[in-house]
Amino acid sequence: MKQQFINGEWVAAIDKQEMDLIDPATEKVIDKLSAGNAGDCRAAIDAAHKAFASWSKTTPYQRAEILKKAANYLRENLEIIARDMVMESGKPLPEAKGEWTVAANLFEWYAEEGKRSYGRIIPTNRPDKRSSVIYQPIGVVGIITAWNFPAYNPARAWAAALAAGCTVVAKPSEETPLSAFNLVDALVKAGLPNGVLNVVIGDAAAIGDEMLSNCLLKKISFTGSTRVGKILMDGASRTHTKLSLELGGNAPVLIFDDVDVDALAKVTAIARFRNNGQVCTSPQRFYVHKNIYEQFAEAATAYVSQLKIGNGFTEGVNLGPLITKKQRESVLDLVSKAQAENAEIMTGGNIPPHLQQGYFLQPAVIGNLQQTSVLAQNEIFGPVLPLFVFDDLDDAIAKANDTEYGLASYIFTNNLKTSIYASERLEFGIVGINEWAPHGTESPFGGWKSSGQGHESGSEGLYEYMEKKLISTGGL
Ligand code: ADP
Repeated sequence: MKQQFINGEWVAAIDKQEMDLIDPATEKVIDKLSAGNAGDCRAAIDAAHKAFASWSKTTPYQRAEILKKAANYLRENLEIIARDMVMESGKPLPEAKGEWTVAANLFEWYAEEGKRSYGRIIPTNRPDKRSSVIYQPIGVVGIITAWNFPAYNPARAWAAALAAGCTVVAKPSEETPLSAFNLVDALVKAGLPNGVLNVVIGDAAAIGDEMLSNCLLKKISFTGSTRVGKILMDGASRTHTKLSLELGGNAPVLIFDDVDVDALAKVTAIARFRNNGQVCTSPQRFYVHKNIYEQFAEAATAYVSQLKIGNGFTEGVNLGPLITKKQRESVLDLVSKAQAENAEIMTGGNIPPHLQQGYFLQPAVIGNLQQTSVLAQNEIFGPVLPLFVFDDLDDAIAKANDTEYGLASYIFTNNLKTSIYASERLEFGIVGINEWAPHGTESPFGGWKSSGQGHESGSEGLYEYMEKKLISTGGL
């Protein structure tokens, strides 16, 4: 049984409720979870509030020491903790190991960046006045994260908040809490004082509501769906809770006719299907120039149909199961709606006959699509590669921008002018030119439009957890 972590102790939920943790590859129960609600969240906020008094007064150097020890613990225990992640999320073991490596890097990077939250001295217009700007930790923060990256999502936000001097009440996803608990272990072993980090899971809506209405909690950082993001925006007015939101995406990819078609098709098959497409920056809408469309579609289909699907522990597997049956149903529904639009299913899109147990789905390539298709208008969050043809550059850019989302976008060309022209016109917070991983620990990650507000990672991610203060002295 996995419990809540409040004020440095593992405790059962106040109401003694429980829930099952399911392995998506086998549909078997892995463990029981103690399921909390508003009361548990309140206890966690109280503990975080008490701990803030001393944690916020530590120096960034003291905090860095703990965060760096935690990073080392994660690296030393990578083999064990990666297995927990495979079990709860279904992703292939090498992906789980890669994710833990990035999580460790985030802790190390923020340990150092916390030392650089420089303010500034401002020359004033009066000889007897001095002005300066300093940054201070915002207070107790709530961090709600999604299941698609069970370690990366919490690590990115926890590391920045702790480095800034905030105390944390975290609510990881109930689908994937084991990785978050492993992160807790790392920080506790590294010497994090009691109450600085608390973790509650259970009734998400009740916990979220408590965060929104409790005056002691100053900010919520959220990674998840646009649907829940809107609930938080509505609720935040009650206590003026500040928000950072990392929401959905529907990333376009513009592929021009000067690329190496076969080489790009090969890496596309990996990039689009990483984590089964359950990634908010996942390349989703592929706009391919008409001169190479047929060639690209054929090559991509050939590579995608070779991808190996199975249990994440099996060597050589490229795709594990989707996270839940519901998630798979929502992807299957989009595929059948696309079929009804006369789209061409070039491969996949069905439940593999040899994998009836577990939430597996054969990766699909779907062509002959129009901009009005359900596969253009919705975030798929699943293993489907939709293909669109384009002829005119401005038309392709307009179609790429034709979405409520604005997180990631991609351009593939060897033409410098085209890449600059397109990158400056795409309405997205992130543009990758000739690469699939434009973001990194050190760079700002954030969405335009309905994809969210605020940034994670990079120095921007640190300042999300700090308040700016102007200090002016007169009469000198
Ligand atoms: P996803 O579909 O990616 O899981 P969700 O937005 O449903 O996205 O979930 C992201 C996180 O938000 C999870 O930790 C989930 O438990 C939490 N969550 C779901 N509903 C609410 C809510 N009403 N208030 C606060 N958090 C919520």
